[in-house]
Amino acid sequence: MYLYNSATHKKEEFIPNNPDIVKMYTCGPTVYHYAHIGNLRSYIMEDVLEKHLRYVGYNVKRVMNITDVGHLTSDADEGEDKMLKGAQREKKSVMDIAKFYTDAFFADCAKLNIKTPDVVEPATNCIDEYIKIITRLIEKEYAYLAGGNVYFDTSKLDRYYIFNDHNEEDLAVGVREGVEADTNKRNKNDFVLWFTKSKFEDQALKWDSPWGVGYPGWHIECSGISMKHLGEDLDIHCGGIDNAFPHHTNEIAQSESYLGHKWCNFWMHVLHLKTAEGKMSKSKGEFLTVSLLEEKGYDPLVYRFFCLQSHYRKSLVFSWENLDNAVTAYGKLVSKIAQLREDDGALDETAAAALREKFRGALDNDLNTALAVTVIYDVLKYATNGATKLAMIAEFDTVLGVGLIDAAKREREKAAKLAASGGGSGFSVVCTDGAPDATVEDLIRARAEAKRAKNFAEADRIRDELRAQGVEITDVAGGAQYKHI
Ligand SMILES: [Zn+2]
Repeated sequence: MYLYNSATHKKEEFIPNNPDIVKMYTCGPTVYHYAHIGNLRSYIMEDVLEKHLRYVGYNVKRVMNITDVGHLTSDADEGEDKMLKGAQREKKSVMDIAKFYTDAFFADCAKLNIKTPDVVEPATNCIDEYIKIITRLIEKEYAYLAGGNVYFDTSKLDRYYIFNDHNEEDLAVGVREGVEADTNKRNKNDFVLWFTKSKFEDQALKWDSPWGVGYPGWHIECSGISMKHLGEDLDIHCGGIDNAFPHHTNEIAQSESYLGHKWCNFWMHVLHLKTAEGKMSKSKGEFLTVSLLEEKGYDPLVYRFFCLQSHYRKSLVFSWENLDNAVTAYGKLVSKIAQLREDDGALDETAAAALREKFRGALDNDLNTALAVTVIYDVLKYATNGATKLAMIAEFDTVLGVGLIDAAKREREKAAKLAASGGGSGFSVVCTDGAPDATVEDLIRARAEAKRAKNFAEADRIRDELRAQGVEITDVAGGAQYKHI
């Protein structure tokens, strides 16, 4: 399996440190608000990666943090505290906000068929881990105390910028207008490991530490949580591209300085979901959440399908029109699958092997989900029986996770119900004078429905209404014919 590694800027063969288990870490949400569907794109793609690793035979241990402390509005440790902001906005406690939005996040994930990682750890659970790492970093002189806070000294590293070739000028990225720079920092990119004195006097969550009562910075939590559950090495670390700098850059700086050796082999970053206005964010334009998709009548799994149709290393443009196209494509695919029959033959091993090779080949090549989706169409066209096609689609959907088999089953049930009630395709309406009219045909069906329900008065009323429009109906076996008079 080949994956693009952001740390080396190339596609590399993926080989875990220990062949028996893949250690995977994912940066989790900051639980101060709902996740927008752009954030969720990353979790969908990471979920496909985890499921594919399992599909090809690896055991996977996946860990994710929940940020419930220490994340400021600027990723460079400046601005407001996101959790505090959420609590003030909703007039609730920080812990209530954390609980509410953690639950909301996992409810969204469930709707998108995203598996919950094996370990989910809130940042506030691991204070001892952070203190242990920070103490050692100070001993090794990678960290210093200034103004009551503990900072990581980025000038101590030979190579700080792992993911990009940032120069000093670009680093203004972390600093927003109107945000005062932290004058305690020795170097512009130094970051906070532990806050004791901060501008947030009303900070709700504080812990005792060797440097005074305070709370951890955002970056240290992922190093601490990862090492607590996965040990001193990691196979894959994932996150949205936003996280590459400074968050992941800082994670590497502090982890490798603490450990004294390489920490993580592969870094996977998922690119942005964009709208016509640019990068999607909570503050700009419509706040696109899973609930909003549902309110507008979209199945969240169709959004997942939409995401899979493009490569994770390319920006994806979201528009309602694009989503509608995905709805149409998904619907067509489901209708075709609904026509397949389980009792049509036995598993054709030769066909299965050929199809598996195609499917696996697509995902083994840097998780080409768009190509993997087209393999579903290949299955439908393949010269083999229905049982084999259904088995393959079910198998591939354990990785793609777009609910094709269930959706096809629902469609079959709906068709069966319609047929049993005499409606749908069981009742044919034919125009005999070559001028078919959809409105007339709807009325004819409504009349048939009324007759079945023994509502003869309504049936007669509709017949009279049609006659008034100049339409004459003739009842025939299995339907009705009509003509204009
Ligand atoms: Zn992280």
